[in-house]
Amino acid sequence: MSTPRQLHPSVTARAYGKINLHLGVGDPGPDGYHALVTVFEALNTPETVTIELAESDSVEVTGRRAGDGIPLDERNLALAAVIAFRKRTGWGGRVAITIDKQVPVAGGMGGGSADAAAALVAVAKLAGFDDRAVLEEIAATLGADVPFALHGGIALGRGRGDDLTRVLSQGTHHWVLATSTGTLSTPDVYRRVDELRDQWTAGGHSAPGGISAPGGQVAARLADPTEVLAALASGDVEALAANVHNDMTDAAVSLLPDIAHVMDEGRRAGAHAVLLSGSGPTVGFLAQNATHALELAVLLEASRGVREVVRTTGPARGAHIVE
Ligand code: ATP
Repeated sequence: MSTPRQLHPSVTARAYGKINLHLGVGDPGPDGYHALVTVFEALNTPETVTIELAESDSVEVTGRRAGDGIPLDERNLALAAVIAFRKRTGWGGRVAITIDKQVPVAGGMGGGSADAAAALVAVAKLAGFDDRAVLEEIAATLGADVPFALHGGIALGRGRGDDLTRVLSQGTHHWVLATSTGTLSTPDVYRRVDELRDQWTAGGHSAPGGISAPGGQVAARLADPTEVLAALASGDVEALAANVHNDMTDAAVSLLPDIAHVMDEGRRAGAHAVLLSGSGPTVGFLAQNATHALELAVLLEASRGVREVVRTTGPARGAHIVE
């Protein structure tokens, strides 16, 4: 492992939000975490994090999302990343962190995770530390989506979503994202997934997407991403649109019914695919091209339950230094 040295007084890095093209949710394990099989796509919604040496630690958020319920103490994932870096490497610097935020907050798009990944890359550069494997280890301790924000592109995630394999893909995807006027907490949506499955099996059915385990217990099956992976490899957007999948959709809609309305509006407006982003409440709409994305965005802007419409493309890069 290389030893951190002091090289740069200020470093800027960038990482991106994501959408899950496939999100299969299994049963919770003994640690309470659900087993996942997911396909992440990084989207060109940048989070830009600048880290400067300072007398004491601080966090500032700039841009139009400043103040959107983002903590400015050690609960902020960018500062949490710096603290974890210090602990792991023994580096002693204190830092002023500035986050220029483009990813909508708490929408299931992994903006906080992107901040953590960008902060890790920036503080490592600031400290003259270049052991990528150690950064990946630290990322995995910060949250299930942080390793992907470091990695970028398109990747298959297993386990908690942090065991990553790169996915080959062709072409650019045009996305329209509709954030919600309502809010959802990720743990609440996972709980609701379990409740809905319990209700379903108590009614004598096998769980949707479920398989019977020996002894009559019903175990949730992890939805298979094979079709999505094949569509990505061949660059077939129609096939991709036909196979995107999110096991959290029913749970999120049952907690926030306006999501179903927004999804219907997108379908009526001719979206190729309509997909809940992670645990929601943001909904992603896959468009045919940039013009189609603009048309969809205009139609969705007027929809009930929509707070903001963001047009973007994917895949985007992993966390990197901005020179
Ligand atoms: P998750 O699915 O991990 O809950 P998300 O992708 O839905 O996250 P984020 O924007 O990453 O949404 O933030 C979720 C919550 O994390 C915020 O409401 C906020 O309280 C907290 N948080 C901590 N650090 C950050 C950060 N740097 N940016 C945004 N939110 C942060």
